[in-house]
Amino acid sequence: MSITFEDFKLNKQILNAVSDAGYTLPTPIQEKAIMPILSGQDIMGIAQTGTGKTAAFVLPILMKLKFAQGNDARALIIAPTRELAMQIEENVKTFAKYTDLRTVVLFGGLGPKTQINELKKGVDIIIATPGRFLDLYLEGHINTQFIKFMVMDEADKMMDMGFIGSIHRILEVVPRKRQNLLFSATMSELVHKISGDFLKHPTIIEVAAQATPADTVSQALYKVPNLKTKLNLLQHLLKDTEDFTRLIIFCKTKTVADNIFHFLERRYGNEQVRVIHANKGQNTRINSINAFKEGQIRILVATDVASRGLDVSNVSHVINFDVPIIIEDYVHRIGRTGRALQTGDAITFCSPSEEYYVDKIEKLIRQTIPQFNMPEDVFVDDTPYEERQNIAREIDLQKRRDDPEFKGAFHEKKAKNTKGVKTTKTEPKAKARNNKPGAARRKKSVKFDAVHKKDRKKK
Ligand code: AMP
Repeated sequence: MSITFEDFKLNKQILNAVSDAGYTLPTPIQEKAIMPILSGQDIMGIAQTGTGKTAAFVLPILMKLKFAQGNDARALIIAPTRELAMQIEENVKTFAKYTDLRTVVLFGGLGPKTQINELKKGVDIIIATPGRFLDLYLEGHINTQFIKFMVMDEADKMMDMGFIGSIHRILEVVPRKRQNLLFSATMSELVHKISGDFLKHPTIIEVAAQATPADTVSQALYKVPNLKTKLNLLQHLLKDTEDFTRLIIFCKTKTVADNIFHFLERRYGNEQVRVIHANKGQNTRINSINAFKEGQIRILVATDVASRGLDVSNVSHVINFDVPIIIEDYVHRIGRTGRALQTGDAITFCSPSEEYYVDKIEKLIRQTIPQFNMPEDVFVDDTPYEERQNIAREIDLQKRRDDPEFKGAFHEKKAKNTKGVKTTKTEPKAKARNNKPGAARRKKSVKFDAVHKKDRKKK
């Protein structure tokens, strides 16, 4: 018999809200974490986004706080980005809706006035990014002496973003006697260090091996010789409006993201597509994310700023238009689809100079990403001279990075090898893999198979 939410003995208000949210059964991290948190233990949870980790800490905290009390926060949740902070706030509001518990979210990028006014009204739970929390604390807007619960979410991201100093300062200003919960997708050395400073005899809960993509995501890789062909492939996939209902396209730079956005906007009109990246104002980003969440738009083009904390259910596909160079981002990007108990597809386009990163990603996730032949209808463009040169130069750099002795083979003859798909070095390997029917596929998704079967049939 599987554990149900009733087994946690949560109060009626919370159970009703859980049921309104459509959660029928707890996810594995919820199964493992809720009871120990309720019993007062410190927790170190190794879990990616998409596993249901937010509810795993929010539900027991709400249960312990019960109802509004005094003016000052009793729970503090620290998150690395404003997107994640907003996401957590949304979860808290969803589950606290039948209680009178008050939540305030604090993050930078907006003037602090509204946030200060919210704090003045009285608060039970603060969700904040580290910098803004400290600013408002130092200005005297936050009284920390009643804080009993502290959560650090996505601690690995927090360390990557250089928040260790701010975290230490926050730990100095909160009461020593408190319950601590730390969540992280991976267990790096810095996370280990911060957890030592933060947690007391923690119960360690791990729901998936380090950096393992969620089981509900099926992955696919296309080797694509150049940018033009990537665009052709993208257009081909997007034609399938039945399957590709709600998708995020990840790009490595703001420029690529803007270019893809304009390309799609010309094709589909601005009703169907939006772009989010760091140069977009905070409000524009929020509006775009909300429009996407509410299903008003079909396609969200994004850089990695959006790959964390963005929680949208029913994302049918994640397309990595570019392979992420920070390889850990691969897991975070594809975690946008196949969220809790749903399935999703993650498709990666890989140019010859990106194979280097795919190799590293495959080592990280300890899986081979199943590779597919280019669908028949996709026109494979020749690689223009300049792009060929860039690809060859990039490959040289990669070789030199791995082997400082490497002299560099960058010259015209080598560059020719990257022209067109037939001469792409990787092609024989691609074919060899696909000649074993289904050999490369590990995880199945009916939807995804359907798309690719169509492609195969056409041959
Ligand atoms: P998280 O890992 O906390 O970002 O959650 C990922 C997604 O899973 C969110 O959309 C949650 O609303 C959803 N979710 C969390 N727990 C459950 C559950 N027990 N049943 C169904 N969906 C859930």
